[in-house]
Amino acid sequence: MPDTFAIQLLRWYRVHARDLPWRHTRDPYSIWISEAMLQQTTVKTVLGYYAPWLAAFPDVYALASAPIEKVLKAWQGLGYYNRARNLHKAAGIVVAQFQGHVPQDPDILRKLPGFGPYMSASVASIAFDRRVPLVDANVRRVMMRISNIHGPASGTWDKDILIFLDRVMPAHRAGDFNQALMELGALVCTSQQPKCNMCPLTRHCRAFEKGQQELIPEPKKVSLNEITAVIGLVRDKKKYLIQQRPEKGLLAGMWEFPGGKVGASDKSFKEALKRELMEELGAVCRVNEEFCRVRHYYTTNKVQLIAFNAVLKGGFKPRANQRWVSVGDLTAYPMPSGSAKIVVKLLENNP
Ligand code: SF4
Repeated sequence: MPDTFAIQLLRWYRVHARDLPWRHTRDPYSIWISEAMLQQTTVKTVLGYYAPWLAAFPDVYALASAPIEKVLKAWQGLGYYNRARNLHKAAGIVVAQFQGHVPQDPDILRKLPGFGPYMSASVASIAFDRRVPLVDANVRRVMMRISNIHGPASGTWDKDILIFLDRVMPAHRAGDFNQALMELGALVCTSQQPKCNMCPLTRHCRAFEKGQQELIPEPKKVSLNEITAVIGLVRDKKKYLIQQRPEKGLLAGMWEFPGGKVGASDKSFKEALKRELMEELGAVCRVNEEFCRVRHYYTTNKVQLIAFNAVLKGGFKPRANQRWVSVGDLTAYPMPSGSAKIVVKLLENNP
């Protein structure tokens, strides 16, 4: 079983693997970047970021010496910004402690910022052919079906899955083996309607044998929090006021327009915004007409942002984390997706 499992999987991968840019390199730094980007982000999205990132930061030295603002800006739109902060910190450590060489040992990788069990196994196996199995969402689904494990997909089964994979993983081409399993989950053993007729592992799959593959894993009930927030496009002549979030916490260090969540006691969106602007700027503002509405999602939140034009009434002195910026220069600041969408609309209206 161990041999045939790996042989059939690798044979399939050789023929069906998607042609992706990070599969053309053995450079550990480039592989690390691709793996960091691919966590919680689709391949399609990462394709738009990978090459520009390597052009901006071609090696670990370039990344380590870059200002964090430039790093966050290059990451803008990929979400989960701690990944970018951790990449930057880890690059500094690789330069300072490992002479710029990405460590090969998964246990040493684990100690770097941003390297959990998945990242350390993926970089060690793909870049250095270290024999270390891994579990991501695709692998978890495939392996739950292979072993006919019923229940929602969760980390509960990961230990058993890793023991199984350690038995069937080949002595060489560990990186291809890991990528092949993830690719199988992405292309064939999909969450809806798995294409078992195209699968190289049908002979090993207990769920397929019992005809239960569509029942695994059980869907999780995810309830989305609906959030409405009001945003002030506070303008003075041709410049807008933006402010930087604290260095710690959600979206740390990112820039955004002032504003905040609409509270239960707010009688209208405009009233909510006046209150938020007073709290954040310490100044009274006149809130004018609505400019736009945008939606975005993060973790389990569904957010609607309602942006209003606004002007300050009376004196206001920006604090160190606040800046007046012209429309054209707003794109130079790293912003979360919702604010970035508003900037795009501002640019459309100010050609
Ligand atoms: S046989 Fe079907 S359910 Fe089993 S691993 Fe292959 S695609 Fe998934």
